[in-house]
Amino acid sequence: MIDFIDPVYLVAVIVFIFGLKAMSSPRTARVGIVIAGGGMLFAVAATIAALFVPSTSAILGVAGTPALTNLVLMAAALAIGGGLGWYAAKVVRMTAMPQMVAIYNGMGGGAAAAIAAVALLGTSGTDGLSVAGAVIGATSFTGSAIAFFKLQGWMRQKPIVYPGQSVSSLAVLVVGVFFGVYAVLTATSFWLLPFFVLVLLYGVLLTLPIGGADMPVAISLFNALTGIAVAMDGFSLSNDAMIVAGILVGAAGTLLTLLMAKAMNRSVSNVLFGAFGATEESAGSVQGSMKTIDIDDAASLLAYAGQVVIAPGYGMAVAQAQQKVKELVDALEAKGVGVKFAIHPVAGRMPGHMNVLLAEAGVPYDHLFDRDEINAEFPATDVVLVIGANDVVNPAARREGSALYGMPILDVDRAHNVLVVKRGQGKGFAGIENELFYRDNCRMLYGDAAAVIGALVQAVKRA
Ligand code: NDP
Repeated sequence: MIDFIDPVYLVAVIVFIFGLKAMSSPRTARVGIVIAGGGMLFAVAATIAALFVPSTSAILGVAGTPALTNLVLMAAALAIGGGLGWYAAKVVRMTAMPQMVAIYNGMGGGAAAAIAAVALLGTSGTDGLSVAGAVIGATSFTGSAIAFFKLQGWMRQKPIVYPGQSVSSLAVLVVGVFFGVYAVLTATSFWLLPFFVLVLLYGVLLTLPIGGADMPVAISLFNALTGIAVAMDGFSLSNDAMIVAGILVGAAGTLLTLLMAKAMNRSVSNVLFGAFGATEESAGSVQGSMKTIDIDDAASLLAYAGQVVIAPGYGMAVAQAQQKVKELVDALEAKGVGVKFAIHPVAGRMPGHMNVLLAEAGVPYDHLFDRDEINAEFPATDVVLVIGANDVVNPAARREGSALYGMPILDVDRAHNVLVVKRGQGKGFAGIENELFYRDNCRMLYGDAAAVIGALVQAVKRA
């Protein structure tokens, strides 16, 4: 009988690639997720079906591995994991998405480490690949768990730093890897225990000095590591689907990590080891006062403008104001005002955060412009409406000596008028005072973004 599992895995892998491709555009991302999920369902279903075909069960994994015979345990794990995942994804708030990605990714890393552990304890895993898979998977598991705790506010968000941190963390990793290699070379499973304890500890130590604002970059890196760990497990178990799926996740995660670091003008090593945000920055050169404007005056300014550019940020996501923002766009366009959106690549708390929210509210995609496309237009723009954005519009990024120095920003301060919607004097995620709010051309509209934009819609209609 011909084994069906390899052709099935090949189909699943092709489906993964199509899904990933579709995820690269906000228009097709939802479909892409469904396609990739379908591919995964297909691969898992085929793997389970193959357990009942004797000739294929041997190639599915390691002869002598007990895992593939525990059908009841496997069904229970699938039901509990699938059920919890489905429920959590249903109820999660958009702003809590980064920590959800962190915990799910951590589970992937933990699973990869567990597979490597089974392989190391069994007969086939006596190779360096399983050790490498275990190191990377375990690091990703505990690192993602710390990322989750920090983002969830269950532990201090600021970087936790102490003297000799990098050297001691590295020492833990080196000693851990030594135990793992020793266990394989001497075929003594006892040494796997200190090996796993130390590499799990390394994930914790690696993540402690990373501050909350940098955490999405770290999560993306852990995501890439999980993919690589899965690919290594795939090599060690001769499982093609795991190899290719792992490489896809590893490559996509690495690219995303680099893109996010680039958008913040930081190197990945600076994100990991720079302890960004550990020290408070003084207000420094900020001078002047923050000036307010009332809703009716703001509405007149908007309604009689030739061009309005809206710069949304994290606060729009917190307030879930996107629907009101869409209503404001409609009201302004009805009065003949041209409206564009300026989308900063790291506005919000995850890549594409603003695009997803605005698409959800029905804002046409051709209204959205990247930083590179829109920055030249600000000097000719009558009014910029900043909604809950802070760091991504902070001109301090152009000033040498600022912690934000070098971060590419939206040059909204160069517009004729800037209106800023935020609740109060709160700082952005980087914890740095925003010089924009003190400029002469800037006026503050204090309040929750949904309430303020709602009031603006009514006032624009009256204007
Ligand atoms: P920021 O976090 O800099 O600022 C958000 C602002 O929104 C705050 O100043 C807050 O002020 C205001 N706000 C909060 N809640 C509300 C509300 N309900 N209504 C109105 N305003 C509100 O956001 P940005 O989007 O400008 O910047 C994103 C930050 O996240 C950057 O530092 C970026 O580097 C970082 N980051 C983003 C990643 C990504 O992928 N998007 C990845 C990694 C990091 P107040 O409290 O006064 O209301």
